[in-house]
Amino acid sequence: MVNAPVRQPSLTACCAAFVQAPIGLFRPRPPDHDFLNRLTGAGLPRPQHTVRIRALRQVPKSVPTAGIVEGTRRPRRIPLAMTTFVIEHPYARFIVDPGMCTDVAPRVLSQLPAVLRVAVHPPADAIPTAAALTESLDGQAVDFALPTHLHWDHICGLLDLPNMPLRVHRRELEWVTDGAVAPVGGVRESLRDRPISTFDLDGPPVSTFQRSHDLFGDGAVLLVDLAGHTPGSMARSPMRTVACAFTPCIASTRSRIRCASFPLTTTAPAPRCWAEEQSVASGRRLPEGLLEPRH
Ligand SMILES: [Zn+2]
Repeated sequence: MVNAPVRQPSLTACCAAFVQAPIGLFRPRPPDHDFLNRLTGAGLPRPQHTVRIRALRQVPKSVPTAGIVEGTRRPRRIPLAMTTFVIEHPYARFIVDPGMCTDVAPRVLSQLPAVLRVAVHPPADAIPTAAALTESLDGQAVDFALPTHLHWDHICGLLDLPNMPLRVHRRELEWVTDGAVAPVGGVRESLRDRPISTFDLDGPPVSTFQRSHDLFGDGAVLLVDLAGHTPGSMARSPMRTVACAFTPCIASTRSRIRCASFPLTTTAPAPRCWAEEQSVASGRRLPEGLLEPRH
């Protein structure tokens, strides 16, 4: 199979990203209080069903805290895992962010900018999504996969799951498939030759988010707009189901998550992305149980 050509960052972009990173370590951006004060809560619909959520087993990578949480140096390192979640709803069982494949280096990482490959390389014993599913589900069927956004570490597990249908935010799919040159590497191959259905975030405001999509029409799984990291990034909020149990659990830690923590992977200008991060990081007016695995 011949991979699609992938856009490579310019030398200027590389330099800017790696100059900015150490600045954020010592002078983290302050909260945008005007933005936070403008947030209004639209409330939450009452769900007609509840869902069960579990994380597939994954091996975390130890990463410098300062690279993930801006301005934070203690502890010096924190675990970061490319975790896939299984959500069981009365109407369907689906996986969120199938982010690890076999032979990830030659199949996926080889398409990334060379300067990023070492930084994002998963641990040698990282568990492919397909293997983790076999271990966890014992043959139970999965109806579809739902990536929160289309970066390689949220989709490439589908390379080992060739028949699994995909549901994806239309804006995000258009971003990654338009044109002869892919905007990011390691994604288009995971989309090939599989059933794909799309949706729009054309539903009403939910909590502090302006747009939403009710996945099953019963209020149990709401997808909300978090554009910035990529054009169609989403968070999801399966409500009244579980407390935050993930690392990092943004809503509960109020950490200053730096959207540019992985330089060259974020599409929005930093100020906008930063403001959107704060809407989550502030922990204000957010639904209990907001799940937002994101990197
Ligand atoms: Zn990403």
